[in-house]
Amino acid sequence: MIYLDNGATSFHKPETVSGAMRCALENCANPGRGGYTAAMAAAKTVLRCRERAGELFCCSPEQVVFTHNCTHGLNIAIASLVKPGARVVISGFEHNAVTRPLYAREAKVKVAGRKLFDWQDTLEDFENALKAGADAAVFTHVSNVFGYILPVYEMAALCKRYGVPFVVDAAQSAGILPVDLQKLGADFVAMPGHKGLLGPQGTGILLCGREPVPLIQGGTGSLSAQQAMPDFLPDMAEAGTLNVPGIAGLSAGIAYVQQEGVDRIFRREQQQAEKCGKALLKLGLRAFTGDHQAGTVSFVPPIDCEDAAHILGEGGIAVRAGLHCAPLAHESAGTLDTGTVRVSYGHDAAAWQTGSFLLQMEKLLARS
Ligand code: PLP
Repeated sequence: MIYLDNGATSFHKPETVSGAMRCALENCANPGRGGYTAAMAAAKTVLRCRERAGELFCCSPEQVVFTHNCTHGLNIAIASLVKPGARVVISGFEHNAVTRPLYAREAKVKVAGRKLFDWQDTLEDFENALKAGADAAVFTHVSNVFGYILPVYEMAALCKRYGVPFVVDAAQSAGILPVDLQKLGADFVAMPGHKGLLGPQGTGILLCGREPVPLIQGGTGSLSAQQAMPDFLPDMAEAGTLNVPGIAGLSAGIAYVQQEGVDRIFRREQQQAEKCGKALLKLGLRAFTGDHQAGTVSFVPPIDCEDAAHILGEGGIAVRAGLHCAPLAHESAGTLDTGTVRVSYGHDAAAWQTGSFLLQMEKLLARS
């Protein structure tokens, strides 16, 4: 199988990831819950991952909170910043992991910047929305549907200028683009552990620029005599036993990304996406390409999207079709009615993957 669905989760993980998970299963008990060897091994494993994440994302290890996935982190962040009925500015390319928690809080949502690959439109619209009055802003770094890289550092500066607290959704950028908590000055940055960071599913990270409001309460292994949750990071947001084997795998994934280099991984993915997009356009398809594009390309096939993805799957190509949990992004691009087929590259992006995909596309076009 040629796996081109890295936007959903990375699949070909480095061998060190499963090795670290196995090692944790065999050697680690509960971190922070005992002074014996296996508990200490767990604590060390968890701390090492926090340290690695802190290095990669320019923050202290205490600011790294482990979550189940990116959605979990976004929910903590949104619950911390958005009071029911608050005015929230979002980009035109948000995932349901952002819009559904906002909907549940009955937030007054202003969508700003709907033109794909157009930084001027994104920034002008975003600034106008902040100027009009906002209690918070939430925006994605990279669109999961179209690979559009938003100007998040400039958007962050605008939030600072207008005194608006904000959350960055780094689901599609962590491990692929520089994500710098200090430089962003974000209140929160949420990310999965299982995509670009190459960890297993069931892992995620919330970088905390401020203290979050805990979503759940419970044991933390610290201040056990008191009933209030600890008031310090990361304990205040990590009630219950941590996913130690998952965190061990995530730690190995982050180490791989650090060794390989974010820039190199990005270039590899971006080069193939660019090649793929150009070729799809040449085949006469409506493919979405532009400046500021990461390793993801969407296109509208001449037949139903799901059927196209199914046919490609039979040809050994794994891609995702439909709305990709991001109806807002499709509305912005004018593909809400049809959906798209999405090709998303991973850390192992290579020309032969693009070549095989295009061969199967030619077959599909000949059939339809
Ligand atoms: N935000 C974006 C932009 C995404 O692409 C995704 C997942 O695809 C999420 C949030 C949610 O991530 P997770 O599935 O880890 O909760």
